[in-house]
Amino acid sequence: MISIDDKIYTLKFYVDEKNSHLRIKDPKICFKKCKERFCLYFCPAGVYRVEKDTLLVNYQACLECGSCRAGCPFKNIEWSYPKSGYGVCYKFG
Ligand code: SF4
Ligand code: SF4
Repeated sequence: MISIDDKIYTLKFYVDEKNSHLRIKDPKICFKKCKERFCLYFCPAGVYRVEKDTLLVNYQACLECGSCRAGCPFKNIEWSYPKSGYGVCYKFG
C-alpha cells in the first residue's frame, strides 16, 4: 500500500519564497485558547508545527486541500490560494 508520504513525494511545488498564503491571525489564541492544537492533526502535510512558544507554518509544503478553513475552531488561519504560478502541482491527477 502506498503511504501518504510516498504520494506527497510525487508532487511538485512551485514555492513563492516571498509570500506565504497561510497566516495565523492571532498567535496568542493558539497558546491561550487552543490547547488541543487541532492543526497539528488535521493537516495532511504536517504544515503546522510547535516549537517552544511558536506555531510554525511551513506553507511551502501546503497541499491546498483547504482543511484549514474548516478545521481551526477559532477561524484563526487566514487561507488563500498561492499566487498564480505558485503552489502544488499534482502531476498524477
Ligand atoms: Fe491555532 Fe487554530 Fe491551530 Fe488551534 S487549530 S493551534 S487556534 S491555528
Ligand atoms: Fe495543510 Fe491543507 Fe491547510 Fe495546506 S490547506 S496547510 S495542506 S490543511
